[in-house]
Parts: sequence; structure tokens; C-alpha cells
Amino acid sequence: MTLFTCRFDAVIHFAGLKAVGESVRKPLLYFDNNLIGTIILFQVMAAHGCKKLVFSSSATVYGWPKEVPCTEEFPLSVTNPYGRTKLIIEEICRDLYCSDSDWKIILLRYFNPVGAHPSGSIGEDPRGIPNNLMPFVQQVAVGRLTSLTIFGNDYKTSDGTGIRDYIHVLDLAEGHIAALRKLDDAKIGCEVYNLGTGKGTSVLEMVKAFEQASGKKIPLAMGGRRPGDAEIVYASTKKAERELNWKAKHGIDDMCRDQWNWASKNPYGYGRSGDSSN
Ligand code: UDP
Repeated sequence: MTLFTCRFDAVIHFAGLKAVGESVRKPLLYFDNNLIGTIILFQVMAAHGCKKLVFSSSATVYGWPKEVPCTEEFPLSVTNPYGRTKLIIEEICRDLYCSDSDWKIILLRYFNPVGAHPSGSIGEDPRGIPNNLMPFVQQVAVGRLTSLTIFGNDYKTSDGTGIRDYIHVLDLAEGHIAALRKLDDAKIGCEVYNLGTGKGTSVLEMVKAFEQASGKKIPLAMGGRRPGDAEIVYASTKKAERELNWKAKHGIDDMCRDQWNWASKNPYGYGRSGDSSN
């Protein structure tokens, strides 16, 4: 048997379960997959002498922020098992670095990634009913779902709906490249950066932008607030701009255009119409 060995210099760890509601119903699944999986990954990295890591964390660790924009120094709190796995992994990373300063770790706190690759051949394809806003809107636009329920229109925002910081997946990808480059910096230890645009957009504004991009009407129903949802969350992007030399380039119109391009070319994602596993 021939054994092939190949060197790896750094790891980008974005393998994790991410559905908030499912994490409430199945916390052990989340702790097992996200936490144990990560610990094993770190053990394997250490065994191979690879101690450079970029980890996908989430803005969910800011909980319901007392003010916006969220800076990386804000106090952290979570309201569900999914968020807890992100926070615990962040803490594990900080402890790991304290124990061994050879580790170089960047924690990226994603805000709300949306959009798709502009080619229209790579995009998000959640299984079952989507939990997140834009995949849901997309499925309404292609006729797979009938209407979007707005989770709360009584927030203290301009139109009453929740405000988030939506970021194009292309910008998010470039944020990872910038983070990988930063790992070559001799001074880096365990650092955290927000990946967002710094701009807040309401649910209704996002729906309107998607309607414009797609030419489709999205029927709406007003529902109650979703438990655990914060009112307004958007990023301070100053630290990433300053230290990673990275800044998001795309606005919500680009995000909706590229998402609609993916959706209209692939209304059933990577699967087929009627495929229940899709
Ligand atoms: N949202 C909504 N209806 C949905 C899904 C989401 O009104 O079917 C709202 C949600 O309350 C939040 C925003 O859309 O204000 C973004 O939600 P998403 O789940 O995409 O991201 P997150 O909650 O993680 O910020």
C-alpha cells in the first residue's frame, strides 16, 4: 500500500449544523456535531503540526445587542444551543491559544450571508422548509412556497420589522482569504473579526429588493415575533477594514440579483422537482 502524505498549512473550519430551531429540539446533535467535531479537528491539526485556523463564528454571539453597530468587544450571550456551540468554540479557541501560543486563530463572526455565485451555478439549497429569510423568499418567488410570514412588525424600527446586516457570499468568501493572509502575520494570536457590511436592512426592505430583482410578487403574512430574535443587529466593520484590509463591496441589490439568478436557473436547487430530500 502506498501512503501519500501531504502538508496542509491552515484550516478553514466551516463545517457545522446551523439551524436554530433544530438546535433547540436536538441540542445533543448540535453539541455532538459542532463541539465534538471541532475538538477532534483541533486534535488532528495539532497532531499534524498545523496550528493555523480560520473559524466560522456568528453574529448570534452578540445576542440582543444593547446598541449597534456591534463591535468585536461587545459582551457575548446566546439564546439557543446553536449559538452556544459557536460561543463555546470561540472560548475553546481562546483557551487553546493561551495554552500554546503557536496557534494562530481567526474567528470570523458572520452577519447574514445571502446571495449566490454570479454564475448562477452555486447557491444555497437548504433541506426542507428554509429557516432563514432569503432562502424562504427565494422559494416563494419560484412557487415552491405560497407566502412569507414576517416574524414581527412591532419592533422599534422604521417599518416595524427586524433589522439585519446582509452580506453577499462573495464578500464573505473574500473575507476568508483576507483572514488566511492575516494568519501569516507573526503577531497574530487568537483574534476575532466581524464580517458584515455595517448597514442594517429591514425584512420588508429586503423583500422589496428581491421583488425588484426578480420581478416576482412575494405574498406576505404578518406573524408574531420569533423567539430568540433580536430587534436590530448590524456590524461595526472597522476592525476588519483596518486589520484584514477587507471591506464588503456588494449591496442588497447585488445580493438579490445573484440569488435570483441562481434561483431562476435552479428552482429546485441541486435536486429535482418533487424530490423530498431536497
Ligand atoms: N424572518 C422572517 N420570516 C422568515 C425568516 C426570517 O420575518 O420566514 C426575519 C427574522 O425574524 C429576522 C430576519 O428575517 O428579522 C433574518 O432572519 P434569518 O433567520 O435569515 O437570520 P437571523 O435570525 O440569523 O438573523
